Amino acid sequence: MDAPLHIYGVELGLIGKLEAVCPHCESSLPKFPVRKTACRACGGINYVRTRPFDRKRVLVTASEAEEVEAMWSALKRLRDAIGMDPSFTAGKEAATALRQPKLSSTSLDWERLLDEALNKVRHHLGARQVGLLRNAVSVLAEISFACGKRDDALRLGTLVLALDNAQGFNPPRAGLVPGMLRRVASYIDDPDWADILMKARESSAVVAGLGGRSNPAAVTSALKATYAAARSQSVRTLAANCGEGR
Ligand SMILES: [Zn+2]
Repeated sequence: MDAPLHIYGVELGLIGKLEAVCPHCESSLPKFPVRKTACRACGGINYVRTRPFDRKRVLVTASEAEEVEAMWSALKRLRDAIGMDPSFTAGKEAATALRQPKLSSTSLDWERLLDEALNKVRHHLGARQVGLLRNAVSVLAEISFACGKRDDALRLGTLVLALDNAQGFNPPRAGLVPGMLRRVASYIDDPDWADILMKARESSAVVAGLGGRSNPAAVTSALKATYAAARSQSVRTLAANCGEGR
């Protein structure tokens, strides 16, 4: 059997009961419920959900229902990240594959996806297209993370933060964005690092940046904290690794 797909640290697996069985106490139910019901044997509340792995309706407990929710949002994030650029052929194919009724890590051509994403980064870097480069790098970060290359994802995600910050010096473009900080935080295994990143997100500097009036000094100090936390390479080194000189 295909391995379950891991995205954003969430395993899209075979959760819940396919049969009319209580997920709390395993006793048989008269029929498969169509909506939330209480089990007559144990009183546990059973929820009906569609699990992403095979798109089948299953019976779950409340906490399993939350897991299913997390699976769907992880799947949507990946689909949005790789499907957002219409010229990204491999990304478009992958986004389509992720809509198929059966998911697995082997149903996606990760190598080709990474190759194409990296080529886009190199292209925009060479053409000095900062906005497009930023989007291409963020896509590459998402794909790297999805296929288990966590360190790559972290380096690339931090590069996106640096690019966002550079744009922030040029009002009204915003600086660091909470969405990207959250993504980078999710690439980090160590909860302490994630904590520091979340604090940077919540700092007034970032909030000010979002108002379209970024404060360069404050955003820079938030970014420095982010850098220290992520122990990233410098932007220049990353840029060199991503394209030039190869
Ligand atoms: Zn029960």
